[in-house]
Amino acid sequence: MTNHFQTDSRKLLARLRTAMAEDAAGQARLDKITHLIADSMQTEVCSVYLFRDTDTLELCATEGLKAEAVHQTRMRLGEGLVGRVGRTGRVINTPDAPSEPGFRYMPETGEEIYSSFAGVPIRRLGEKLGVLVVQSRVARRFSEDEITALEVVAMVLAEMTELGIFVGDGAALTAPHTQPRLFRGTTGQEGAAQGHVWLHEPRVVITNPIAEDPHREHERLNTAVEELRDAVDRLVLHVADGDKEQLEVLEAYRMFANSKGWLRRMEEDIARGLSAEAAAEKEQSTARVRMESITDPYLRGRLYDLDDLTNRLLRILSGQGQETGADMPSDPILVARNIGPAELLEYGRSLRGIVLEEGSVGSHAAIVARALAIPLVIHVNRITTEALNGDHILVDGDHGIVHLRAEDTVVNAFGDKIAMQAKAQERYASIRDLDAVSMCGERVHLMMNAGLMADLPSLAGSGAEGVGLFRTELQFLVRNQMPRRSELSALYAHVLDSACGKKVVFRTLDIGSDKVLSYMKPNDEPNPALGWRAIRVGLDKPGVMRMQLQALIRAANGRALSVMFPFVAQYEEYRAARAEMDKAMERERILGHVLPESVELGAMLETPSLAFAPRKFFEEVQFLSIGGNDLKQFFFAADRENERVRRRYDTLNVSFLTFLQNIVDRCNDTATPLSFCGEDAGRPVEALCLAAMGLRTLSMRPASIGPVKTLLMRTDLGALRQVIEAARERGEQSVRADVMEFLRGQD
Ligand code: PEP
Ligand code: MG
Repeated sequence: MTNHFQTDSRKLLARLRTAMAEDAAGQARLDKITHLIADSMQTEVCSVYLFRDTDTLELCATEGLKAEAVHQTRMRLGEGLVGRVGRTGRVINTPDAPSEPGFRYMPETGEEIYSSFAGVPIRRLGEKLGVLVVQSRVARRFSEDEITALEVVAMVLAEMTELGIFVGDGAALTAPHTQPRLFRGTTGQEGAAQGHVWLHEPRVVITNPIAEDPHREHERLNTAVEELRDAVDRLVLHVADGDKEQLEVLEAYRMFANSKGWLRRMEEDIARGLSAEAAAEKEQSTARVRMESITDPYLRGRLYDLDDLTNRLLRILSGQGQETGADMPSDPILVARNIGPAELLEYGRSLRGIVLEEGSVGSHAAIVARALAIPLVIHVNRITTEALNGDHILVDGDHGIVHLRAEDTVVNAFGDKIAMQAKAQERYASIRDLDAVSMCGERVHLMMNAGLMADLPSLAGSGAEGVGLFRTELQFLVRNQMPRRSELSALYAHVLDSACGKKVVFRTLDIGSDKVLSYMKPNDEPNPALGWRAIRVGLDKPGVMRMQLQALIRAANGRALSVMFPFVAQYEEYRAARAEMDKAMERERILGHVLPESVELGAMLETPSLAFAPRKFFEEVQFLSIGGNDLKQFFFAADRENERVRRRYDTLNVSFLTFLQNIVDRCNDTATPLSFCGEDAGRPVEALCLAAMGLRTLSMRPASIGPVKTLLMRTDLGALRQVIEAARERGEQSVRADVMEFLRGQD
């Protein structure tokens, strides 16, 4: 770039800054800006198009096109050249617009006389906001320098806080960040919560995108980068010996921090008139756009690193640390792009709810949120850009909906919902110590699922009779290195202590599929849910399983021990796992450790194959627990993580209920204790039907025990069974409608 253009673009930015500092606001200011750009770039036309929703762009201001078209001309994403820039985020620069593929002219704008066209995306931190366009009569291609200048201007436009006011119906010129907003995401964990926003990573607010003195900005940037490099060097020095993963991340940071290209690009933008902060943010924006199109997990990871590094740089430059000085509200709802499980655990139960832009149902953060029973909504687009620390926020985890700064009517309705939940909790507390006995006198044992030490207090609070499933993988998932045997054994002992003699069924490590350990070499499997997971890993690489079994035996320290193996698909796998336990006991005996007073070994029935295992298996296994989440996914061949299909087949489908009944019959035949521990056990109507099919032990989220017990105590299971059988006879696909009618009739 020549100095000449740097000076030109600086002049333009200086004029823009003056315009932005003037009193004019909203439309008048945007009009002034398009005028200034056209004038400085010597083009007849300059227009700003902004997104009014995710796939419509609207002409919001123009110099040169017909004024009547403003707020009237709209185009779909991908439509015409503007729509193409909007969709792809790529610049279009052409001397002959009408001959470009996809060109479509809008007659109401009078643009047909302009031949050259340049359009650049307006983005803020990778988020698409609109398109900035210049057009002129003479057929010429804009120079690279002119395009860069336009990009810099687009960056400044993106920083205009009032940009949001043009989007929507164009008339409502109200400030952003004060309006109520409704977001639709995906349920990560059910439950409702209201509170105030606590941003995990508060956004750096840039108040000065344009700078007057490039030399000073240069110096500021260089000093900040130096400081950043020192900080990264210090971090590298402090990494614990052998923590390879952390070291790798930091080395990547160091590489970026020392990368000449990174610094040079920011310096060039400063030379064009941006402030150091704006230059850094422009880099971040570019990285985020790149991230969108990259699917390779390794490369994505590196771009995340770069994003994070730029964040640090922005904090140094702006003096806005992670600590903003704001106090965490007393009812915090965490809002973040994404969060790791360890960070989430640090917040622990202080959080009322969690809202994430990314994440997935099976992500580690979701697993932790579920274990802590904190309502979680994921895939909430743009929430981190819209929410400010302290904003009022409502999280509806049941429907995957988030209300930001909701109006009073919504807040009241939501308050009623929460109050009803609280009332119900009071009712549940009053029956906590009663046995779960149905109206017809059937006793059903209600146990709880757990996975963290933090879950154990719920054992007394919920009235659960014990822990029917203790998922041991969380301790493995939340760390970045393999936990030690002594740590595990201390934790398991603590769990048993806290259970005060109530039964705890430990499930051995269930990894693979959606649960990936960062410190184990990832397996590139085409179909991980059907791949090398759970007991398959345990038996093929027995080191970890042996260590875990030893830890369990030591934790029991003379008490009764109950262990089950996940994902057993055939008899032989159970036999092999059992042999491992026998060996572990023998080893511990030789080492002189106290052995458990009894050891009960079971298998999880999670694949249909095990339901058809030889009778001998049923006789030998000491208990079975149906992992309904996996069993259902394999029964219907419908991925439990895939939003498109995961709700497609009803648990109350007659084929599935018949299948469950067959399992119950086989277990009754051989007197094999049977339980059910998938999510369905915690859904009251489903739980009733499971009990009607003959299941007598259900293990569920602690919060579900009260609702399930309440319904169970009001229901005649024999009558319900007849309803199910009648529906089956009639050839219904699902018995849900009949069951619901029966239950309504009971009230
Ligand atoms: C199940 O599959 O139902 C189960 C309880 O195990 P997880 O959800 O941990 O796979
Ligand atoms: Mg499972």
